[in-house]
Amino acid sequence: MREFGYQRALDVPGAVALLGADPDARFLGGGTNLVDLMKTGVERPARLIDVRELPLDGIEATRDGGLSIGATVTNSDLAAHPEARRHYPALAQAVLSGASGQLRNMATVGGNLLQRTRCGYFTDVARPCNKRSPGSGCPAIEGEHHNHAILGASEHCVAVHPSDMGVALAAFDAVVRYESADGPGELPLAEFYLPVGGTPHLETALPPGALITGITLPPSPVTAVSRYRKVRQRASHAFAIGSIAAALDVQDGRVREVRLAFGAVASRPWRARGAERVLTGGPASAEAFAAAADAELAGAEALPGNGYKVTLIRNLVVAVLTELAEEVA
Ligand SMILES: Cc1cc2nc3c(=O)[nH]c(=O)nc-3n(C[C@H](O)[C@H](O)[C@H](O)COP(=O)(O)OP(=O)(O)OC[C@H]3O[C@@H](n4cnc5c(N)ncnc54)[C@H](O)[C@@H]3O)c2cc1C
Ligand code: SF4
Repeated sequence: MREFGYQRALDVPGAVALLGADPDARFLGGGTNLVDLMKTGVERPARLIDVRELPLDGIEATRDGGLSIGATVTNSDLAAHPEARRHYPALAQAVLSGASGQLRNMATVGGNLLQRTRCGYFTDVARPCNKRSPGSGCPAIEGEHHNHAILGASEHCVAVHPSDMGVALAAFDAVVRYESADGPGELPLAEFYLPVGGTPHLETALPPGALITGITLPPSPVTAVSRYRKVRQRASHAFAIGSIAAALDVQDGRVREVRLAFGAVASRPWRARGAERVLTGGPASAEAFAAAADAELAGAEALPGNGYKVTLIRNLVVAVLTELAEEVA
């Protein structure tokens, strides 16, 4: 690993100023992704600004009945929090399904949102990769792409976003709060991650040098009946090959409200708004769930090695929504 400087930030404006003063610096959360990437030379910061001591480690109910989660809250603390478990169970389940206990004790909410893709070409500096080195090419399209994107990808990059937490946050209309040199700001999760297009190296709409300060979850009764289901190649300690966050409200056999998001299928957590539209007001039946999945997946563009994800996600939609429908019946 290259030599680098280290500084601990003690307040939010100080953290933003420290990063602003050094374009080659990076914020350090738990370090579970950034430090790994530094070891392999993918990330080469001159200085780390440690944000773990910032007063951003609280989880509180908001005045309107939602939840505010600080950026330095650890994944373990979020998954264990009673309000998160009661009102947003799919979020707690998603967080618990990620990594290992030791990693979750270190990993922070802000760092989880900004973790980088696990595409093997991205993490191998000996190979070209448009995300790491714009314009160099995308070997995954002709090469190993078993776990790559089927939705919203481009000819420039087919990598998927690895965060489980982000999938539940997408289903629940989370808003990311940040502090930048121009003051505080907010980005709904739907606008936080940029479409991949021709610029896979530009991943979020955060202003340059901005510090994520927290996440706000709006109040929503439907989220109390929710579930996160993750399919992976090992029972634990593995990234998703497909996942779903779902919430459902049914009245008199008809869908009153539904939330659906998919993981490991796109460069960002994929909110399935097309499927939600098809389902809302219609019957809460397995046939309707399958038709809604088909509507969402009609735009899927699979590569030779990852077409299995279309069937996988369709089956997840039917299975999880059927379970939730039985729960609310
Ligand atoms: C073996 C292993 C298995 C894993 N399995 C899973 C899994 O199954 N599912 C899953 O979702 N994740 C998984 N992870 C990833 C893990 O969840 C992430 O590494 C972790 O969430 C990153 O959080 P962190 O605080 O350690 O971030 P860091 O590594 O500290 O930082 C990540 C990025 O975020 C930036 N950053 C950090 N905090 C802020 C902030 N407040 N504002 C702005 N920028 C910030 C950093 O500069 C860096 O660019 C796994 C990781 C490992 C090592
Ligand atoms: S899929 Fe994206 S991250 Fe992977 S090699 Fe291609 S450009 Fe790089």
